Amino acid sequence: MKIELYPGRREGKEQFWNFGFSELGLTGFLSDFYEVGKVRLTAFPLGKDYLLNGEVFAPLVLACCRCLETFNSGLKLPLSWVVHRVVAATPEDDLQDGEFEILMEDQELDFTGRLRETIIFNLPVKPLCRLDCKGLCSSCGQNLNLGACRCLKKTEDPRWDALRGLAH
Ligand SMILES: [Zn+2]
Ligand SMILES: [Zn+2]
Repeated sequence: MKIELYPGRREGKEQFWNFGFSELGLTGFLSDFYEVGKVRLTAFPLGKDYLLNGEVFAPLVLACCRCLETFNSGLKLPLSWVVHRVVAATPEDDLQDGEFEILMEDQELDFTGRLRETIIFNLPVKPLCRLDCKGLCSSCGQNLNLGACRCLKKTEDPRWDALRGLAH
């Protein structure tokens, strides 16, 4: 995905993109999106630099860390990036988070890699299908959101609740 950045053109005007799951190279982290991803960005000129402001919506399919069922979870994140117009590129490691460089002669900036990073850094560490997800029975593996299993009575001792909480 590329945003146009050249004098007198589209600056201060919102630009929109749709993107698919494979376009961002998120394979290996997650399964497919449940609908198309969306980005909007506005480029505000700051002298020879630009401030890019906007938002990304990533329609993630996550696996619940307790019951292992997949569920849809739209991740909405604000985007705020600074783009420096430079004569020669700095090694990427020396750039701070949220900073980009664009060469004097360049008229567009590819932000796909940075968008991918932003989404990955904001993935929930312990996704839950719902806050009160009951998880799986540790003896028989039954999904307890769908109903109690037969071994439930034996293992459900309130004294273990605190420990069980730690385990999740
Ligand atoms: Zn769950
Ligand atoms: Zn059970």
